[in-house]
Amino acid sequence: MRYKTAMNEAFKPATDKYLEMTGFLETNHLAILHHRLNDFGPECVSCGHLLRTPKASYCANCGTNKQ
Ligand SMILES: [Zn+2]
Repeated sequence: MRYKTAMNEAFKPATDKYLEMTGFLETNHLAILHHRLNDFGPECVSCGHLLRTPKASYCANCGTNKQ
């Protein structure tokens, strides 16, 4: 458990910033590293959600085709 405590302390600035930005207290820093903006596509022209990938042909949120 010492390792886990040390890792939580080492990444506390990242989890604190994530909480500030999203309002969600994520305690697993690996989950934060997993969600990179570069992995998503542009914003949907209809609803504004990010497309799932840069190559996505439609919005998974509202179904609008990419234009
Ligand atoms: Zn959409």
